[in-house]
Amino acid sequence: MSAVPSTANVTLCGAATITSAGISRAPLPVRRGRVAASPASPNYRVDLRDHLIFPGLINAHDHLHVNSVPPLRNGAPFSNSYRWIEAFQPHFDQPDVAAALSWPKALRLRHGALKNLLAGTTCVAHHDPWDAALDAADFPVALLRDYGWSYALGWLSYGPPVRESFLATPTEWPWLIHLAEGTDATTQAELSMLDQLGCLAANSVLIHGVGLSEKDVDRIVAADAAVIWCPASNLSLLGRTLDPRRLAAAGRLALGTDSRLSGARDLLDEMLVALALGELSPRQLLELVTTRASQILRLPWRGHLAPGARADMVIVADGGGDAAASLVGVRRADIRAVVRDGMPCIADRDFADWFAAFGVETVPVTLDGKPKLLACSLADPALMAMEPGLELSAHRDVSAEACHV
Ligand SMILES: [Zn+2]
Repeated sequence: MSAVPSTANVTLCGAATITSAGISRAPLPVRRGRVAASPASPNYRVDLRDHLIFPGLINAHDHLHVNSVPPLRNGAPFSNSYRWIEAFQPHFDQPDVAAALSWPKALRLRHGALKNLLAGTTCVAHHDPWDAALDAADFPVALLRDYGWSYALGWLSYGPPVRESFLATPTEWPWLIHLAEGTDATTQAELSMLDQLGCLAANSVLIHGVGLSEKDVDRIVAADAAVIWCPASNLSLLGRTLDPRRLAAAGRLALGTDSRLSGARDLLDEMLVALALGELSPRQLLELVTTRASQILRLPWRGHLAPGARADMVIVADGGGDAAASLVGVRRADIRAVVRDGMPCIADRDFADWFAAFGVETVPVTLDGKPKLLACSLADPALMAMEPGLELSAHRDVSAEACHV
């Protein structure tokens, strides 16, 4: 297998690039895996006229290793996530659940990463104990690495103890905890509990927040803390979600999928769910998965495409009109190319020359029925078998053999 080189010098020409300052039609140079101020030499040019280039998306909440586990199909709505966790325990005895969990954890983590990458998500906040498999040089996505975390105030047997973890986390790192994931008095009291513990601060990142009152939201904004919104998961577990408008207007909201145990298939589908709620525009939703996530998770070189940023990108056809609406509202097979470090990882087949220019072996696949090329480093048969909708193409060619697939 060949890993994607991290030193690609490439200039993306003719596209409209979505930057923090607006839309740029200037060529976008990439040098050694980062956006550059000027093209490097030697340089490969990619003709991207009639395309839009977005920063790689940031998924602010996932549990990567459980994305292949069948979800609980009954019992919802629950009054809080703790009731859901209780209901889940007998579910572990189901043969399909046991079979999914029998896969090695390293493989399940990679699968969760692949799920994200296929949908243009190039950086993920994984909310579980760190695992050595996450350090693999060819791990499919970048990860939030500098952070502290606890699981939840009502489930202390899992994850680092709350106050100790908060105090041990440098103030310039985000500290993450599930909070107010419910509609009952227990979860409605959680923000006050957190505050009493001294854990509500500018680096506190609260996952879910469904049980937050308007006053709670004011306290979060005043503290410069933030909330990660996972509407699909909230709706399937709890039957409702939070009103995102005040937090979004204050810049204190990002978007996460949670895992497929409760959430949407991927971050693009999560945005579709959020869009259908009608409270935020495509442009606001795009901010949640790019610039806002970058600020809240303290990832200064991600979520935008200014010089120095990681050259992780999502490329789509320009549908005309509002640029954000060309990405927010599409599904993963519609993406033209997902790029990490200036190199495509999965792309439509007419980008074959781009892969070939850097000697990246590919395998022809279909994604939800659409022909694509997948970098060989991602084409592990065991991994692909875990992902519904991703299949080796019926007509394998020599490059498939090169992948040893
Ligand atoms: Zn979660």
